[in-house]
Amino acid sequence: MSDRLPGFSTLAVHAGAQPDPTTGARATPIYQTTSFVFNDADHAASLFGLQAFGNIYTRIGNPTNAVLEERVAALEGGTAALAVASGHAAQVVILQQLLQPGDEFIAARKLYGGSINQFTHAFKSFGWNVVWADPDDIASFEHAVTPRTKAIFIESIANPAGSVTDIEAISTVARKAGVPLIVDNTLASPYLIRPIDHGADIVVHSLTKFLGGHGNSLGGIIVDAGTFDWSTGGKYPMLSEPRPEYHGIRLQETFGNFAFAIACRVLGLRDLGPALSPFNAFMILTGIETLPLRMQKHCDNAKAVAEFLAGHPAVASVNYAGLPSDKYHQLARKYAPKGAGAVFTFSLKGGYDAGVNLVSKLQLFSHLANVGDTRSLVIHPASTTHSQLDDAAKVKSGAGPDVVRLSVGIEDKEDLIADLEQALVA
Ligand SMILES: *Cc1c(COP(=O)(O)O)cnc(C)c1O
Repeated sequence: MSDRLPGFSTLAVHAGAQPDPTTGARATPIYQTTSFVFNDADHAASLFGLQAFGNIYTRIGNPTNAVLEERVAALEGGTAALAVASGHAAQVVILQQLLQPGDEFIAARKLYGGSINQFTHAFKSFGWNVVWADPDDIASFEHAVTPRTKAIFIESIANPAGSVTDIEAISTVARKAGVPLIVDNTLASPYLIRPIDHGADIVVHSLTKFLGGHGNSLGGIIVDAGTFDWSTGGKYPMLSEPRPEYHGIRLQETFGNFAFAIACRVLGLRDLGPALSPFNAFMILTGIETLPLRMQKHCDNAKAVAEFLAGHPAVASVNYAGLPSDKYHQLARKYAPKGAGAVFTFSLKGGYDAGVNLVSKLQLFSHLANVGDTRSLVIHPASTTHSQLDDAAKVKSGAGPDVVRLSVGIEDKEDLIADLEQALVA
């Protein structure tokens, strides 16, 4: 073996995986089992007491899922990861470790529509209060900090408009406030942006999107950067205080720079229960093997489609950070030099009706509520994902009535442009 550290594409294929020691199987097997036999009574006791690592029950961990966790941790440059059933489940598990009822977290206003809903309504019923800030105005994050603030949450490339967030500037605010920065890296994937390199303490993904990449399996993952000191000021009792369910151990003291990932597993996943099916872990692992190839093609196609739309008379404006004229182009060049992702919006001169009309005329683009599939997708956010927001909030989150969102797939770009052309003429 050479001393060379493996590159990104090598990690995407190999990280975390070895030939199966029993059968020699080269692809990671699907360990479709609920539970695992203990060697003896002492072994069982040490697993339950967190004195040894090993498999107990698939709600807490599974060998197929473990390969996925190790691979994504390697791609993101984190210390450890935890895979769960969906991106939303990952968000619940993260915040459960950080917030007590009555606490606050600051979130960027430009987010996936489902996250806006989850933060506004579901989390409120847990007593977790979201305070919104504007990712284009870093001072708005500083102004939102209070003694009850426990975390800051942003997207690296933000829904729905594909705008690029200044991760380093917001990480400086988080550091000053003494709270972790959580970055949802779903739209970028670690191929385009590695938020930990820019100051993120926790990275979260919906694996459902570009990492799985084929629109066939839901999943979510939490990556621990290992950068945050949870012991300060008694602010994070789940990590710093003795845990009664584990004979009084303190997770930060026992597990050091992967204590957060452990907390998410043994306090979050174990007790809340959103386990990822090993079958889905297998599908997502297979997807990740081609992530670098797919992501580059997604980005190249998106740029060609954005250029076509920018020159079309029915189009009022295009928000794609890969275009030199775009407001976020400088940030894209800094954070995502390989490409600005494949999800972006454009607005139509004909407003709401033109948006609804366009999605009904497209043939190759599927009209549905997802992103990050091999197939090209389209949606009109104002009538669907963002319909629950009032008009002002729609515009603020980048989902005004005239806005259409695309997730550009890996088909031939000429075919995608031809489909848009016929639909815009119609
Ligand atoms: C889809 C998505 C989520 C939620 O993930 P699920 O797997 O659908 O639960 C969160 N954040 C972003 C940016 C997403 O695109």
